[in-house]
Amino acid sequence: MKPSSETTSQDRLREAGIRITGPRLRIYDYLQTHRTHPTCDVIYKDLKSDDGSLSLASVYNVTEKLAEAGLINELISPDGQKHYDGVIDFHGHFFCKECGKIMDVSCCKDFLPDELEGARVDSMSLIMSGICHDCMG
Ligand SMILES: [Zn+2]
Ligand SMILES: [Zn+2]
Repeated sequence: MKPSSETTSQDRLREAGIRITGPRLRIYDYLQTHRTHPTCDVIYKDLKSDDGSLSLASVYNVTEKLAEAGLINELISPDGQKHYDGVIDFHGHFFCKECGKIMDVSCCKDFLPDELEGARVDSMSLIMSGICHDCMG
């Protein structure tokens, strides 16, 4: 049992005004625990065994809905595929061109270029690509 002071997935969905359904909760939970930036295909393949009634179309619908509500982030890899991220705190991403892995990269949110001094910045993203440690051998 989780301590009652901890916000549960249900609470977060409810706060975002999302009606709770089995697939929504399962997919949201999955993204909270799998920090690999999966595509809909991967989410579907992993969850299908627990939930035989889950369809790929519902995975697409649910991820879109959760992203719209700001509960998860959508990111597009250099090959044009959509990936989903359950971590919405600001961080950057590094795409490995060799193995396709997407790593979280910490970066400073407070960095503001001189050109934007005095302006308001609402969003920012940091995307890098290259060859990861593993693929560098
Ligand atoms: Zn790699
Ligand atoms: Zn991430």
